[in-house]
Amino acid sequence: MNRKLSLDQATTRSTPWDVLVIGGGATGLGCAVDAASRGYSTLLLEQSDFAKATSSRSTKLAHGGVRYLQQRNIALVLEALKERGRMLRNAPHLVRRQSFIIPAYAAWEIPFYGIGLKIYDALSGKSSFGPSRMFGLDRVRELLPTAVPTLHAHALAGGVEYFDGQFDDARYCIALAQTLHDQGGTALNYTRVTRLLKRNGKISGAVAHDEISGLDFEIEARVVLNATGIFSDEVRHLDEPQATPIITVSQGSHFVLPKSFLPGQHALMVPKTADGRVLFAIPWHGAVVVGTTDDEVPHAQLEPRPLEQETAFLRQHIELYFGRAPKDEEVLSAWSGQRPLVRKQGAKDTAALSREHTVVVSPAGLVSVAGGKWTTYRRMAEDTVDIAQKLVGLPPRPSATQELRLHGWTEAAAQNSSADHELAIYGSDQPALDELIATHPDRPEFAEPIHPRLNITFAQIVWAAREEMAATVDDVLARRTRALFLDARAAIEAAPAVAIQLARELHQDEAWQHQQVAAFRAIAANYVFKS
Ligand SMILES: Cc1cc2nc3c(=O)[nH]c(=O)nc-3n(C[C@H](O)[C@H](O)[C@H](O)COP(=O)(O)OP(=O)(O)OC[C@H]3O[C@@H](n4cnc5c(N)ncnc54)[C@H](O)[C@@H]3O)c2cc1C
Repeated sequence: MNRKLSLDQATTRSTPWDVLVIGGGATGLGCAVDAASRGYSTLLLEQSDFAKATSSRSTKLAHGGVRYLQQRNIALVLEALKERGRMLRNAPHLVRRQSFIIPAYAAWEIPFYGIGLKIYDALSGKSSFGPSRMFGLDRVRELLPTAVPTLHAHALAGGVEYFDGQFDDARYCIALAQTLHDQGGTALNYTRVTRLLKRNGKISGAVAHDEISGLDFEIEARVVLNATGIFSDEVRHLDEPQATPIITVSQGSHFVLPKSFLPGQHALMVPKTADGRVLFAIPWHGAVVVGTTDDEVPHAQLEPRPLEQETAFLRQHIELYFGRAPKDEEVLSAWSGQRPLVRKQGAKDTAALSREHTVVVSPAGLVSVAGGKWTTYRRMAEDTVDIAQKLVGLPPRPSATQELRLHGWTEAAAQNSSADHELAIYGSDQPALDELIATHPDRPEFAEPIHPRLNITFAQIVWAAREEMAATVDDVLARRTRALFLDARAAIEAAPAVAIQLARELHQDEAWQHQQVAAFRAIAANYVFKS
């Protein structure tokens, strides 16, 4: 992917695009891949970087959702389990099977959760990730050695193991953007839609602002899809200023802790904390992700910060389930994301709001898709493009994404659904990344780690600039690699050296490097936890 080429394509096209997608998160990229793979000319515009908002800040689970099973939302669980299977089949380099253990602090909980998870297994049918099992105390102690032996005076009695998917959310978005490109579509980051164009009262395109060059330009399109997540209502208001909002924003935060909190390969899952939430502690890139929370917030933000009540909840629950609260410096990174939930009349709290998606078509023909969850992004995209196709009379063609292999797919990854080495995420691009180091003996730093605590090389930074449309230090440290999410202090320390390499690739000067490092430090300061 090359930003300059994409910008040329977006600004010089003489005929209208079939489909213009606004928003470069999971939903927008999914819609663009769906449209392009049906053979429609497709352009996607993202105001910041791909996955900058919610889609890089999830718990990273490709799952049916045990919580939705508790809520008896069987249709959502069934659909999500099908999609979970497709994610693993179509992007095996980015999605892996993960074992989860539910600890039982009363004997009756073992069959209670055990039966629920047998239903979950049965619903997954052919897409099963492995059968669930019930265990006694000794086995659970072996698998979860750091789980507390007593909770609220109840002794650990045993547990249940089940399987779900874990994936790298930001890298999945990059793979979707690359797949879009492979399918003949165009994706452009740092390009914000500022206005919608209308002809005879119908949407006919948009005005976009290139945040890097400052250029404004018009795009004509037969249909415009609004896939802007928590910002959906803002874009709807460009079309209908008085439209009733459809989105409620709910924030969730995570801590990343050292592996010592949860050694081994198994994740911990608590189906119901004292206040009724689900809590996960999941191994991720040699650390442990703990989350999440669910608190309604008044405004959508591109860089949300963990709220005090969220960090208090996480610390309390880490202490409760692992026997001690983390010290400040043990919280390697603290990050938040905001869910775009579709409003439902009468719902009391955001945890009860729907994770299902909705597609709304305005009288002028703006197609807005909102809600859903990461795991169902493909299905949301298929539904949205089906509606758009009929709305404007595009040649009727069925979705081709159910079995569409994403950029990077390899047979080796497909054979080994648990591969977890650091470069596995590049899939079929990995040999070219190795080649980059081999063919540049003049740049020995390529093979070096960007920081002693980060298992990321300078070659990955260079690759991100050359092949993955990375334009800023934040792009390479937060989403092309996951340095910021894994160890915020290390990412801050690595930023100056990373900026030098990036400036070289992007033909930028020293002043640019300083500005980039300062901008990154301002963002990253929010990921450093201070109690
Ligand atoms: C804490 C948390 C944990 C979660 N965990 C999971 C999980 O484990 N599994 C799961 O399946 N789901 C999970 N989810 C849900 C999932 O992350 C979201 O449903 C999904 O990422 C939403 O994607 P999206 O593309 O709709 O929104 P976004 O990723 O927010 O994308 C919208 C994009 O639109 C862009 N945009 C906005 N306005 C404009 C404009 N004017 N012009 C151009 N671009 C614009 C934004 O910059 C943004 O990048 C979680 C969510 C949260 C918050």
